[in-house]
Amino acid sequence: MSLTLAIVGRPNVGKSTLFNRLVGKRLALVDDQPGVTRDLREGQGRLADLRFTVIDTAGLEDATDDSLQGRMRRLTERAVDMADVCLFMIDARTGVTPTDEMFAEILRKRSKHVILAANKAEGNAADAGVLEAYNLGLGEPVRLSGEHGEGMTDLYDHLMPLADAAAEQQSEDAPQTDIELDEDGEGEVPLITDARPLQVAVVGRPNAGKSTLINKIMGEDRLLTGPEAGITRDAISLRIDWADSDGDSTPMRIFDTAGMRKKAKVQEKLEKLSVSDGLRAVKFAEVVVVLLDAAIPFEQQDLRIADLAEREGRAVVVAVNKWDIEEDKQEKLRDLKESFERLLPQLRGAPLVTVSAKTGRGLERLRAAILRAHDVWNRRMPTAALNRWLIEMLEQHPPPAPQGRRIKLRYMTQVKTRPPGFVVMCSHPDKMPDSYSRYLVNGLREDFDMPGTPIRLTLRGQG
Ligand code: GDP
Ligand code: GDP
Repeated sequence: MSLTLAIVGRPNVGKSTLFNRLVGKRLALVDDQPGVTRDLREGQGRLADLRFTVIDTAGLEDATDDSLQGRMRRLTERAVDMADVCLFMIDARTGVTPTDEMFAEILRKRSKHVILAANKAEGNAADAGVLEAYNLGLGEPVRLSGEHGEGMTDLYDHLMPLADAAAEQQSEDAPQTDIELDEDGEGEVPLITDARPLQVAVVGRPNAGKSTLINKIMGEDRLLTGPEAGITRDAISLRIDWADSDGDSTPMRIFDTAGMRKKAKVQEKLEKLSVSDGLRAVKFAEVVVVLLDAAIPFEQQDLRIADLAEREGRAVVVAVNKWDIEEDKQEKLRDLKESFERLLPQLRGAPLVTVSAKTGRGLERLRAAILRAHDVWNRRMPTAALNRWLIEMLEQHPPPAPQGRRIKLRYMTQVKTRPPGFVVMCSHPDKMPDSYSRYLVNGLREDFDMPGTPIRLTLRGQG
């Protein structure tokens, strides 16, 4: 199932304009699609590498009678129920109206995920309206200009984790033709042109040192850029250009789960809250830094969050903090590596970096590990190289032959990135033992140098 996004809001806020931008030239195919009513338009949307279904609730502009509110409500409720995520749009130039408040109420009660969009936000005439939008109780508004194509990067950031989850599902049950579609799609120009900041979440137990670490990373820069964007339902994020000592800088957005926790008033809620914040931050991140306290590393809670990050398909970097206190560093490092391999085999090869958030030691290595993990997570392998590799792997260690009939692996291709996902076409995929899939995954990791990223391998039968 692919992700379905409904664009909802009162007439004239700009829903159709955004719909057209997301759906583009495909629109022509859409109108006569069965099952779509006059009032709801449906199309295949795309935003950079994301694919999703978009539902537009336009078509009420000429309804001027008294029943308008009622119709709008019913239509919206229907769209909400059909969608995985709602993009609720207001006109930031007009500000929040009572009708907008009515929509917000429906969405708060009914929708699984809401992205609040303050549209027509090009230029600063919209600033006041954007601020008002916070009062809707739906989190931080995304500044959009559907007409000018601004804010698409932020929209992407909100959709990416949701679309990824849906795509994961799809790659498991999709027919073979999907591969070709994917490859075909590559030549087209993505909508996003500006550089997206790398999304990093710092997660870990209370007192691991998350706040200290983030403050250290932000350093002087915090004053220059200011902590961007206050509190969202999802986490607090800070924008930074994190430079190394040579002055090479990378724009990042760091999700600060500790800041969120500190807002909690009741002490006993802390533990629980920090876990759920961590979970949310993981969904929005590309790279997850699991911060451990060197004195009490790999606690249950640390293992849970690291495992979750892997299952969500995020790149993981393990950072061991408070290294300044350790006396026998060599011995400790050996222990840590041993525990890591034993307790988190699913993260094999993920970088383990020792840091001191307090003194700042190791932060440069942490930065390098984050960049590298991100790079690997995004990597795309050429099909020809993969197939040459596959032949070698098969020669070295032929696949099993249940009931005397050898399973044939014909060819493979990479079908996705973020994290890397591969499909191998073979006979009798259901008979392939897991150990052979592991052999291939570990081989890919080694031979194509992909440490620390989850790798998804799907076997698919032909014919
Ligand atoms: P809908 O009724 O919500 O679907 O709204 P439309 O997409 O039909 O747009 C209503 C009006 O707002 C049209 O005149 C659009 O040109 C205008 N509009 C849409 N998006 C923007 C935007 O980002 N900025 C500005 N300034 N105008 C916009
Ligand atoms: P958070 O709950 O994960 O945000 O943790 P904090 O950043 O609030 O840190 C918890 C405690 O650990 C504070 O007393 C910090 O001063 C201390 N701490 C954090 N990082 C380090 C470090 O690298 N070395 C030492 N010795 N103490 C640290």
